[in-house]
Amino acid sequence: MDLGNLTIKKLGNMYRAKEVTVREVVDAYLKEIEAKNGELNAYLGIYDDVIEQAEEAQKKIDAGLGTELTGVPFAVKDNILIKGKRVGAASKILENYIGSYDAFVIEKLKKEGVVFIGRTNLDEFAMGGSTENSAYGVTKNPHDTNRVAGGSSGGSAAAVGADLALVSLGSDTGGSIRQPASFCNVVGLKPTYGSVSRSGLMAMGSSLDVIGPITKTVTDAEIIFNTIKGKDTKDGTSHDGEWGEKKETKKVIGVPRSFLGIDGIDDDVKENFEKSLEDMRKLGYEVRDIEMPTLPLSLAVYYIIMPAEVSSNLSRFDGVKYGMHVDGENLVDDYFKTRGAGFGKEVRRRILIGTYVLSSGYYDAYYRKAVLARNKIKKEFEEVFKDVDVIALPTSPVPSFKIGEKSDPLSLYLADIFTVSANIAGVPAISLPGGTVERDNKKLPTGFQLFAPHNREDILFSYGKSFLGED
Ligand code: GLN
Repeated sequence: MDLGNLTIKKLGNMYRAKEVTVREVVDAYLKEIEAKNGELNAYLGIYDDVIEQAEEAQKKIDAGLGTELTGVPFAVKDNILIKGKRVGAASKILENYIGSYDAFVIEKLKKEGVVFIGRTNLDEFAMGGSTENSAYGVTKNPHDTNRVAGGSSGGSAAAVGADLALVSLGSDTGGSIRQPASFCNVVGLKPTYGSVSRSGLMAMGSSLDVIGPITKTVTDAEIIFNTIKGKDTKDGTSHDGEWGEKKETKKVIGVPRSFLGIDGIDDDVKENFEKSLEDMRKLGYEVRDIEMPTLPLSLAVYYIIMPAEVSSNLSRFDGVKYGMHVDGENLVDDYFKTRGAGFGKEVRRRILIGTYVLSSGYYDAYYRKAVLARNKIKKEFEEVFKDVDVIALPTSPVPSFKIGEKSDPLSLYLADIFTVSANIAGVPAISLPGGTVERDNKKLPTGFQLFAPHNREDILFSYGKSFLGED
């Protein structure tokens, strides 16, 4: 079976024509996992009922009740809950934790009869950009195993990139779907904030978090997005995507030129980005330089708002309600000991930063200012989208880096420069395979990223399909 060229539509056609059974497809993926996961570490665990799920899906198809997603093998980021299944955010603090309910997205996908293959590696609680912060080891890049798969959804991106699943789910708080997708040469969609329910997603930064698909094609991302989106009573910020003006598109791409002039952008990444813009011009799109002077603020704003929310969200892991418990002298000491032993370094760092920026005396200096700047950034996006359909940027300023290369936290934070603004503004963004660069005789992928106005995933899909030549 040619897993490399499989898509949701092709697989559906094969099922309907009875060319292949769900069991055979699932077995083919399990075989790949067996061969490659030892080295890549994309999956942290394979679910024990994969075969039963495949058989259920087959029954649905045979009864003529299948949908386009029935029997489609999914990998799931290890911070999305499935009832009765192990889930742990790649953290020691949740070492033996079992999901107590289905995430909204899982509920939706179960109805379609997809097959959940296993849970994929991530930076602990999604905090990072390389999966090096996982308590269970780094995920290696399928294109060069000396390099990272990106993060935090590194396992989900590597799984799809290396044909260990047809599609996967990730979460994106500041780029965690798009950046690993770009490192692994696949498509990553960060939907509009609130368009996909956060119910059952372990919270990182609640005003930024969103679940989205990682796929080989834009068409597949669209199919999954259309299935998992929608209002959910369990997430008060979720919505039906209907608000906002749905203007006709003008085929105009805006490029925040001066933002591309900042330090630290790899020359080959820039060159690939220019080539991608040229491809779009050839396809009949106008590429126009735009000014977005508040964009450079977005990284600082993100690294204040995100840890503030992290410090609050992660206070629930106290050794009493969930997971690990370490006995101390008294209750407060229990908390200290459990959290000290259970959380890794980066998670503790962010809890400390977040607590600091929210503490009295510093709240006005940091958190409040960041919120004000956030509003400015949002307004700037709204203004710009009056004239252009999409904004284009590279996904990451650098291609995949070597494992251990970015050992100080700041250099990793800086690599989030092009992705965080979408989360700050809440707008949808997509990373598309945008060429390769050569390093150590290996071809490393780079990403072409597009941002659209709120609830205009449709524009990302139409632009993305023309860019990748999908019909
Ligand atoms: N790399 C970013 C960070 O470290 C984004 C993480 C995410 O989107 N979950 O915070």
